[in-house]
Amino acid sequence: MDGPSGSGKSSASRGVARALSLRYLDTGAMYRAVTWWMLQRDVDLADPSAIAALADEPALAMSTDPDAPGVTVDGTDVTGPIRGQDVTGAVSAVSAVPEVRRRLVALQREIIAESLPGGGIVVEGRDIGTVVAPDAAVKIYLTASAEARAQRRTAELDGTTVEAQKADMARRDRLDSTRKADPLTPAADAIELDTTPLTLDDVIAEVLRLVKERA
Ligand code: C5P
Repeated sequence: MDGPSGSGKSSASRGVARALSLRYLDTGAMYRAVTWWMLQRDVDLADPSAIAALADEPALAMSTDPDAPGVTVDGTDVTGPIRGQDVTGAVSAVSAVPEVRRRLVALQREIIAESLPGGGIVVEGRDIGTVVAPDAAVKIYLTASAEARAQRRTAELDGTTVEAQKADMARRDRLDSTRKADPLTPAADAIELDTTPLTLDDVIAEVLRLVKERA
């Protein structure tokens, strides 16, 4: 499940994983956790070579339970802290570094392989259908209007406005879609779903229908 921020990926992915008794992986949380770790160490995030030199250092552990997703880095639970403004503002610079992507894509593939004997996994991100799991049984690309996405994010966060969220999302979308390494783009064989007019339950029902049809 790929798509820009606020398209409804996380809630829909978790709902689908729950309904099908599958595991769930939030790959954005992995990029956020590495960013949190780099910020703790005062790494100069304007310098891609400084990020690249440390890309293998943070030890990540992911919970793939759709009812309790989480991430620890070097043994510290950072599930809450990675949602802070500091991490959100810096993550696109870290995720654009090829050495970071290489490492996290390898880890993501390991987690996917481990889930297969149990039935499989719903993975959400930006490059899942194109890079991480090009052989996925079902690929969904979620979109929504800029207004709907900003409204959803504003409802989830304290102390922000729709206008501020719209500006922040436009900035991240631009950085994520124009970077050289694995930019945000739909896979050629992904099914695009515009969630603007849909409730979360509608989105989950539509994805479950597509899974039944395709898988
Ligand atoms: O999904 P979320 O908004 O938490 O992702 C945070 C950031 O992580 C994105 O803005 C993007 O820069 C990066 N990301 C990525 N590839 C993924 C998932 C997330 O580059 N598969």
